[in-house]
Amino acid sequence: MPAVVIEDVHKKFGNLEVLKGVSLSVEAGQVVAIIGRSGSGKSTLLRCINGLEVFQSGRIEVVGHNLDQDPDHLRSLRKDVGIVFQSYNLFPHLTVGQNIMLAPRITKGVSNAEAKSLADEVLAQVGLSEKIDSYPDNLSGGQQQRVAIARSLAMRPKVMLFDEVTSALDPELTGEVLLVMEKLAEGGMTMLLVTHEMSFARTVADTTVFMHQGKVWEAGPSSELFAAPKTQELRNFIGASKH
Ligand code: ADP
Ligand code: MG
Repeated sequence: MPAVVIEDVHKKFGNLEVLKGVSLSVEAGQVVAIIGRSGSGKSTLLRCINGLEVFQSGRIEVVGHNLDQDPDHLRSLRKDVGIVFQSYNLFPHLTVGQNIMLAPRITKGVSNAEAKSLADEVLAQVGLSEKIDSYPDNLSGGQQQRVAIARSLAMRPKVMLFDEVTSALDPELTGEVLLVMEKLAEGGMTMLLVTHEMSFARTVADTTVFMHQGKVWEAGPSSELFAAPKTQELRNFIGASKH
C-alpha cells in the first residue's frame, strides 16, 4: 500500500477554490518534489497532508491514518508525519538539544536519558553534534534549519514534508540543507517537498509534480518531466526558473 494516498481533494478558503481535485500517490521510500508558481496550492496541499488544513471533499490517507477530523486520529497522524517550514521556529531560550528533546518528552513521554540519546542521534544525522548546547541565535540560518529538521526527525516520522525550507537562506547556506535532505532521501525516508531548487528536484526526487491553478498539471519521473515537459505551462515555468 502506498505511504500517501490523495484522491480528488478539493479545498476552499471561503469562495476561493485552492485545490481543485488533486490526486497523488506516494510509495514508501519515494521522494516527490512539488513545483509550481506562487499561489498554485503547493503549501495548502502539504498542510492538508498532515491535517493543518481541513479540506471539503476527497480522501487523504497517510501511512494508514485516514485524515478525517477526529482529534485522536490527527494526534497519532502527527507523530508519524513531520513537517518543516521555511521559518525554523526554534525556541530561542532553549538550547539546540532542549529544542529537540521537547516534543518527544511531551508527546511520547520518553525519559530524559532517552530524549538525550535521540537528540545525539538526530544531530549526528544533520552533522551538528557539536552544537547540542548552543542557542539558536548563535547558529547560522542553515544550521538552524538543520536543527529544525533534526527536531522533526526526533519524532521518528515515517513521512517528512518540507515546504520551501531553503527559501529564506542565502545561496551559500542552501547547499548544506539540501545535502541533509539528500542524505535523508538516500536513507529511504518517504519525502514530499515543495521547492524552487529545480536541480535538486531533477536529481534527487524520483517524481516531480507540477502544480498549476490548484491542479496537478503534470507529473512524472523527474528526469522525464524536466527533459520533456508536455504542457506549455510547465515549459514556461521551467524556462522562467533558469537564470
Ligand atoms: P503556494 O504554496 O503554491 O504558493 P498556497 O497553497 O500558499 O500556494 O496558496 C494557494 C492560494 O490559497 C493562494 O491564492 C493563497 O492566497 C490562498 N490561501 C492560502 N492560505 C490561505 C488562507 N489561510 N486563507 C485564505 N486564502 C489562503
Ligand atoms: Mg507555499
